Amino acid sequence: MRTAFLPSGKLVSADEYQESIHGFEILCMDKSCRAPLIFVPKSEKASSHFKTVGKTQDTKHSATCGFYSPLDIVEAIEKVTEYQVDVLESTVKKTLISLNMRGLDPDYEKKKTEREGQQEEQDPDKIKTKEKNENPSSISSLKSIVKLLVTYEPDQLSTIYFSIGNGRKMPISKMVLSQERAHFMLWNDQSIRDVGYFVYGRVQDFLRRDKVWFVRLEKVNDVPFTIVIFDKHFKHFTLSEEKLKGKDILIYGVLRKNEYQDRQTTEIIIKSDKYIEFLKRSKNE
Ligand SMILES: [Zn+2]
Repeated sequence: MRTAFLPSGKLVSADEYQESIHGFEILCMDKSCRAPLIFVPKSEKASSHFKTVGKTQDTKHSATCGFYSPLDIVEAIEKVTEYQVDVLESTVKKTLISLNMRGLDPDYEKKKTEREGQQEEQDPDKIKTKEKNENPSSISSLKSIVKLLVTYEPDQLSTIYFSIGNGRKMPISKMVLSQERAHFMLWNDQSIRDVGYFVYGRVQDFLRRDKVWFVRLEKVNDVPFTIVIFDKHFKHFTLSEEKLKGKDILIYGVLRKNEYQDRQTTEIIIKSDKYIEFLKRSKNE
């Protein structure tokens, strides 16, 4: 981990940590944990970081801590949602990644002169993990989003803003959402119109009507959530119910309210197979 919690309530990154300023008392940033940490300076093999050294229950990461064991993608999203507000308020260096998903859109005609990742200014500062791999400066597929979320630790993910075009920058935790959170943001008018969001869930069934297809997700806390494909995009959607049913997926699409029969259903509109990525969960609930 590269971020630690200080007794003052502030967060400090391994890059900026100094004993004389921050003291020796450094703790795990996870609220459910707060295990004592030590600082490990930068070496040939690794960036500077923090780690636990304790062998007893109260000096190891707690089982609910985001640093207890590697997280699967859904756990990572949940922890980033929990950590990001504090990380963004801290002095910890932020990361900007340009998000350009237009390549997925069958209606979008790519201009030959345009190359991905060029449109946005990029932060020259890259985050480094213990393995020394660098974060991507731009993302243009669901696969890369999944890779990002399972490669980096939750404190590093919490430093990420996506640059989504027209100068707009959004924290990763406001773009990659549980279906409950997506539903809440949409119905409380906190989501941005015509901006694509990433939402995860498990497929319940696939209903085909003449003009529109619905892939319904299993309800979480009674929140109805449906993927919608309109007829002009049917030809780009080849996944069958058999392939989809019961699967954990990450979806990219635009959120839309549906108040049919006085029920508040959240819909996410997609245009092809490429708007869905199958997820590996470490454990099934
Ligand atoms: Zn911990």
